Amino acid sequence: MSENLITISPSQGPAPRIGFVSLGCPKALTDSELILTQLSAEGYQTSKTFDGADLVIVNTCGFIDDAVQESLDTIAEALNENGKVIVTGCLGAKTGEGGGNMIREMHPSVLAVTGPHATQEVMDAVHTHLPKPHDPFLDLVPGGFGTAGLKLTPRHYAYLKISEGCNHRCTFCIIPSMRGDLVSRPIGDVLKEAQALFAGGVKELLVISQDTSAYGVDIQYRTGFWDGKPIKSRMLELVQALGEMAKAHGAWVRLHYVYPYPSVDAIIPLMAQGLVLPYLDVPFQHSHPDVLRRMKRPASGEKNLERIQQWRELCPQLVIRSTFIAGFPGETEAEFEHLLNFLHEARIDRAGCFAYSPVDGAQANALPGQLPAALREERRSRFMAVAEEVSMNRLRDRIGVTMQVLVDSAPAMGRKGGVGRSYADAPEIDGVVHLLPPEKMSKTLKVGEFTSARIVDVRGHDLVGVPV
Ligand code: SF4
Repeated sequence: MSENLITISPSQGPAPRIGFVSLGCPKALTDSELILTQLSAEGYQTSKTFDGADLVIVNTCGFIDDAVQESLDTIAEALNENGKVIVTGCLGAKTGEGGGNMIREMHPSVLAVTGPHATQEVMDAVHTHLPKPHDPFLDLVPGGFGTAGLKLTPRHYAYLKISEGCNHRCTFCIIPSMRGDLVSRPIGDVLKEAQALFAGGVKELLVISQDTSAYGVDIQYRTGFWDGKPIKSRMLELVQALGEMAKAHGAWVRLHYVYPYPSVDAIIPLMAQGLVLPYLDVPFQHSHPDVLRRMKRPASGEKNLERIQQWRELCPQLVIRSTFIAGFPGETEAEFEHLLNFLHEARIDRAGCFAYSPVDGAQANALPGQLPAALREERRSRFMAVAEEVSMNRLRDRIGVTMQVLVDSAPAMGRKGGVGRSYADAPEIDGVVHLLPPEKMSKTLKVGEFTSARIVDVRGHDLVGVPV
């Protein structure tokens, strides 16, 4: 039985039951939220087990080989235990070896297959194979987020997807072939969803997309409306509006997948003013201009190191998280060392690294100079050793500092301590702050609320703090 099986809060009376498995990245998670919201609005219930469900939906991920395997295993498991399976998500858009749909070639008995971002197609397939219940009272969406729908994250943080797809064609990536070109959501809709989330108790809003800095490019930064006033569909205006909204609710806004374009410079002062968190998730992937060109990365011509140094001058508390690829085709030892130097010089706070591995259908597979797997792996370990040293030094600088921490877990109201995150830690991907029991007996901790904590130690990638 999959650990990712999701349930909607049960409603009254018997209703058709659906098992739902959500795999993959935050963008896939928001697709799952849309489908679950719609299922719930139509009165479907969810089942905790495959064999207790009338039908199973699997939202798949097709990004790297491990994710593909996990998705295929889950589909096989659902077919085995239930038999009626609808597949959606990135893997659903992939072509198989025979030239047809990959899932259909491998599992001809699935009821329907759709690509990502296909709520309506999934609902049509559900209606065909499991007619919706007729109960007018079930048309109400449960949960406290109103127009924002159901959320799969804990109540105090939520992902806000501002666009779908991507206009770039990075040579190692097949996302555009699965999710299509950039389609930005109307700014009024995005802000309406954010408002509903804050009103529903969200204390941290995580802005996601494939390329947050490109928001609005596809619609020529069209002017929309919010709160009766015109507003451009552009990253700067969006971030400003979200920051003001968050401020009114005493909440955080965190930006993910931002590319180092000159336009991002205008966001940094908003971070320095405290309107949005001084945290940027910038997927650099490499530092050497020739490797970036071979990767066809967005902003590959930019002087990234100088840009980061300027950002840090404007906003010294800025935390940068990034992901990198070691051993890309043709990467020379000198190019790799350029990357290690960049990590040091740019003082990347949090860095993840993949050893390059070919992805079915990616252009990079045909590039000359493919490196042996052992060398790619060796470079990844060398990278991680440097990344950890840089990160540790950054973490050690925090000892003695008092930070605001959002509490994620606090058994017994925090009397025995708890776990939270500072502005430097995004959920799931970064470290945490381990909270010791508060100094004052009267102080309590509550999940979803902020506390101040004096940082007293570093533990691995995490900090240790005393609530004060
Ligand atoms: S920017 Fe590049 S890596 Fe990111 S989704 Fe677009 S093509 Fe893929």
